[in-house]
Amino acid sequence: MEQPVVAVFLILFALEFLVEFALNELNMRHVREQIIRGETPDFFRDKMNPDDYRKSLEYTLAKGRFQRWAAVYGAVVTLFVLFGGVLPFVDRLSRNWGGSLPPGTQATGILFCLITALIISVLSSPPDLYSTFVLEESFGFNKTTFKLYVTDKLKGILLGIMIGVPFLFAVLWLMESAGHYWWLWAFLFILAFQLLMVIVYPTLIAPLFNKFEPLKEGELREKILALADQVGFRTEGIYVMDGSRRSAHSNAYFTGLGKAKRIVLFDTLLQQMTLGQGLAVLAHEMGHYKMKHIRRMLLIQGIYLLAALYVLSLLIDYEPLYRAFGLDTPSTHGALVLFSLVSGPATFYITPLMNRLSRKHEYEADRFAVRTLRDGKPMEEALISLSIKNLSNPAPHPWYSAYHYSHPSTAERVGAIRKEMERQKSLLS
Ligand SMILES: [Zn+2]
Repeated sequence: MEQPVVAVFLILFALEFLVEFALNELNMRHVREQIIRGETPDFFRDKMNPDDYRKSLEYTLAKGRFQRWAAVYGAVVTLFVLFGGVLPFVDRLSRNWGGSLPPGTQATGILFCLITALIISVLSSPPDLYSTFVLEESFGFNKTTFKLYVTDKLKGILLGIMIGVPFLFAVLWLMESAGHYWWLWAFLFILAFQLLMVIVYPTLIAPLFNKFEPLKEGELREKILALADQVGFRTEGIYVMDGSRRSAHSNAYFTGLGKAKRIVLFDTLLQQMTLGQGLAVLAHEMGHYKMKHIRRMLLIQGIYLLAALYVLSLLIDYEPLYRAFGLDTPSTHGALVLFSLVSGPATFYITPLMNRLSRKHEYEADRFAVRTLRDGKPMEEALISLSIKNLSNPAPHPWYSAYHYSHPSTAERVGAIRKEMERQKSLLS
């Protein structure tokens, strides 16, 4: 009875693995061809020296080679957790430990979810360690010490327990006690929980990992505030984050809701960019808010979550699903964990669709920045500078980028920005 479940899962799992593995190989071959050809494409020629270009190709290739082994390793870990007796073992363990506690506490279910998550996290750490301390290190990006890495991990686990226990308690309780429409209640609860997280993240959680200091008075601060005013973006303050403690990669983002939104700039971004370029990056980010991209993405995620919970509610009493992965007795916690482990392969083809929408949003936000600043040059320079500093792949294979990239490549974005500038010029004349 459970063989068809195993077969369907394995087919989807293999399909996802093969698609992603093949795309990685294609992309690496594409990059190797660029290295052999040895010439910088027209577009980068006056901005990027051949050494930088070569280095970004080498970095892409190194990441591709790493990805090859990380993918195999990740697949082995997933198969081991699902078919290697891990789940039944954790199930027995948590029933033993949790059984002695009062039944209303959901202790068994919470223990099962947390122990499984811990096992997966430990098993997944070798590639993460290698990526941080070997790969990123050898290209000069890693700034994390081993001590900081371990403290980060421990803080993450502690935080996961503090947040995970009440969250799991509520979800498991709703699954058991809220009747036929539990999935609808669970959906509403998760939405409310996410909202709470958005509110507490910038003030309570992010400061556990990084230092945030208000951006000091000066031209940059004034210009950012003027820009926010111009586009009607409400913000509670501008902060500089010590991103350089862990990595030389740079970034800027917003957190929070409504009036309490914070603008966060990585210190690395401030070091790497001119004032005009930094403003262009922020104008782009504000574009995402003003054009309701974030709201749209949240809505899509909400619909996805609702659909997933509904499907889970249909499958929750289907015993072959549990037996397929070694669990003898159906349980709400078993359903929850199995569903989250199995849903990746079952929905991987959604990734390229979401990325396509995201790339459309990036073009729109770039256009917003060009129109707001009435100039495309700073945005263009910022993108090229980011691309060089982060050694992003200047020439990804088109299929690889269509599947994986949430942002269009630098060449594509600069092309679109130039077109927009042409259009504005022709409108003016
Ligand atoms: Zn963007």
